[in-house]
Formats: sequence, structure tokens, C-alpha cells
Amino acid sequence: MAEAAAEGLLQQGRSVLAGLVGMAAADLAFVESAQAAFATLLTGWRLPAGARVACLPGEYAPNIAQLGAHGLRPEPLPVNDLGRADLDGVARLLETEPPRFVHLLHVPSHRGVLQPAAEVAALCRAAGVPLVLDAAQSLGHVDTDVGADVVYGTSRKWLTGPRGVGLLVARPAIAAELVPVVPADRAGMRAFESSEAHVAGRIGLTVSVGEHLAAGPDRVRERLAAIGRTARGLLDGVSGWTVVEPHDEPTATTTLRPPDGVDVAATRARLLAEHGIVLTAIGPERAPGEMTGPVLRVSPHVDATLEDLEALAAAL
Ligand SMILES: *Cc1c(COP(=O)(O)O)cnc(C)c1O
Repeated sequence: MAEAAAEGLLQQGRSVLAGLVGMAAADLAFVESAQAAFATLLTGWRLPAGARVACLPGEYAPNIAQLGAHGLRPEPLPVNDLGRADLDGVARLLETEPPRFVHLLHVPSHRGVLQPAAEVAALCRAAGVPLVLDAAQSLGHVDTDVGADVVYGTSRKWLTGPRGVGLLVARPAIAAELVPVVPADRAGMRAFESSEAHVAGRIGLTVSVGEHLAAGPDRVRERLAAIGRTARGLLDGVSGWTVVEPHDEPTATTTLRPPDGVDVAATRARLLAEHGIVLTAIGPERAPGEMTGPVLRVSPHVDATLEDLEALAAAL
């Protein structure tokens, strides 16, 4: 009953969330997390074992594991020194050895480098190769309306919604290739939603994305990019920590390499215990194809102040 009463609201949520990635309400399935979204996609797609999937060398390790579990073969997309997709190289790969699909990590979790997703989407479209975008770190952070064929993400990161909810959004041409494990009499991508679901979480995400829309997604993006610039300027070189991203990268995510002999996990614990500052210690196992050592990640949100960032610099 409560779920039926919320149906109008949930449909608005589907519409607004799908709109953020340039698709429509019927193209969206609420799922449990970003990982659940990717697993749902791969399970439904039923691609032949051994099919090649091009992804960044810095791919998120759990995504590589998902591809492997579905019998798919990850192959590296050409990148530059920063791990950003090299568009000429991508164009050559698509022309000479087109993979079954391209999987692009829009903003990695271990490095605040924004991938040129719209450009990759245009190349993929011209080559007839589907583009799947992992937007777990980019929804609510940067522009996600880039022309991908499939976009998936989560509520709990930059959309600041509740845990336990994610989304899988697919264009009708891809949705038509997906087969639900258990046939459901729900239309479009809703056939891939769990019927026993975290409905309160879906409502919470709908409320969050409503606030995001009211704040103005472009204003949120500008603010986050400004916070990233400020954070990198303040933190680079402090006590020997060095910033990984270019200072003007249009993301808020800021990652720091430690000086020699400094333990990242211990630093994270110290900043939390002594200063109440929450950062993330990320080991190279997160993205083993790219990371050569651990980093300390700062993910300041729109409410972060200059004083917060100065306090972090002082605490470091
Ligand atoms: C967090 C994250 C995921 C997984 O999201 P969950 O909702 O925790 O499953 C996937 N990809 C990237 C890049 C992430 O940062």
C-alpha cells in the first residue's frame, strides 16, 4: 500500500534521475547499488563468453571482477600519463579491433580525473560500439548527460541520498537486448527492479535528486570544481604530500600521494581521531592497473568551506 501511494513520487524520481543522463523514466531501473546495477546489466545482456570489453587501465577492481565473473575479457583503452583516455588511440581501437562494448569509468574513485565521456561516446556511436558509463563517482558531481548507451550509479555518493539504492539506465536499443532472469510484467527497464525493494531508499534518493535539481546541477558542478581547485592549491606540497590531479581538473575529488615513509591508513586514522576529519585511504588494490601506491582521498562536498580545507592542511 505504502509503495503504491509513493508510485507518483517514484515515477518523478525515475524521470529526473534519467534526465540527468539524457534518458527517460522508462529507461531507468532502481537497483540496490552501483555494483548491483553493473551485475544486473551483465546478467541480463548474456554476452558470449570471451567477448572483449575495452576499459581504462585504471578500472575499478570490483568492475574487473564482475566482467570476469560473466566470462568477459577486459582490454585496456589507450590513455595518457594521467590515465585519461587518449581519443586518437580510442578511435584507432574502435576502428581496428572494435570491442563488444566500451566500459568507461567517468570519474575514478582513486583519482579525481574526469574522463572525456562525451567525446568517447561520439566515437563509440560512430563505430556502432555501445558505451557503458560507470557514473558512481560522477552523478551529481559533473555533467553525466554525455550520450552514453548505459549509465549506472549510486545514491549515496555525490547525490547524497541514502545507502542501499542505485540506478541502471539504458537506452531502449540496449534494453531490448537484456533478458530478465525472472520474467516480469513490468514495462521497460523496470523489469530489472527487485519487487522486494528498499522503497524508502528510493523515495530518499528521489528527494535528494529533487534538492539537487532545485540547487541547480550546473551550479553544483561549478562549486565542486572550485572546491577541488582550492583544495589542491592548499594541499599540494603540505608536509611533503603531493596532489595527483591537475589543479584545475573540474572535479572536487582530490588525492594525495604520501611523502616517503608516511603511512596513508595511519594518517587517515589520525585525522579522524584527532581532528574529526573524514578522508579515505585507498590502496593500490582498488585500481591495480594504474596505482603504484596508496593515496589519501579528499571528497569535499558542496558544503565544504575554506576553513574546513585550511583545517585539513594544518592537520596534515
Ligand atoms: C563506489 C563505486 C562503485 C560501486 O558503488 P556501490 O554503490 O558501492 O556498489 C562503482 N564504481 C565506482 C567508480 C565507485 O566509486
